[in-house]
Amino acid sequence: MARDPRILIVEDDAAIRRLLRAALSRAGYDVIEAGNAREALAAADIDRPDAVLLDLGLPDRDGLELIQLLRAKGNAVLLVVSARIDTAEKVTALDLGADDYLTKPFDTEEVLARIRTALRHRRNEAAEAECVEIGAIVIDLARRRVLRDGEAVHLTPKEYDVLAALARHPDRVIGHVQLLRSIWGPAQERNVEYLRIAVRALRQKLEADPSRPRLIINEPGVGYRLLAGG
Ligand code: CA
Repeated sequence: MARDPRILIVEDDAAIRRLLRAALSRAGYDVIEAGNAREALAAADIDRPDAVLLDLGLPDRDGLELIQLLRAKGNAVLLVVSARIDTAEKVTALDLGADDYLTKPFDTEEVLARIRTALRHRRNEAAEAECVEIGAIVIDLARRRVLRDGEAVHLTPKEYDVLAALARHPDRVIGHVQLLRSIWGPAQERNVEYLRIAVRALRQKLEADPSRPRLIINEPGVGYRLLAGG
């Protein structure tokens, strides 16, 4: 993210708004305020916030309705902050598109932690939607497919999962245990042979010269790395 993440505070209580603004500004966020639903909808259009802290008890519109309207405007993280929230309302808020909820009175450290977590999840989802292109190889993470010179490459589900796990962090070493645990499950985390077989197959299908891999690099005793330079 090039600029600081922008947070919209939607809250009719000026004292709470000030408290949140101070905490969020200190944490390095770019902060915008709205005192009612009308201002919130206008700010969502004009300022395109990355996250919205939404008080459900607003004077001019039902908070649950506002969740739907804000969700329809974009992909901002929606954190509901409410005094009156009960379990049924939490479920409804989440169903309508809220990412998380906090109950008043809240601790500002808790608010900051929730925002950080929600923004991180959102960034990971955005990365998930991407294509990774390395030379003649295109790894389409959104559609779970791989192309070589524009032709679909047939991979088994495990081969694909290994390739995708490496492609989500190009040029970074991903450890054997981490790959085995996330793809084959914790019971198989020492079964490095599974991984070797999948990597061998991937090299056969993707490398120009499988005996001299330039795409999936072995880091002996550690793991594998997908070289994005090709
Ligand atoms: Ca309120």
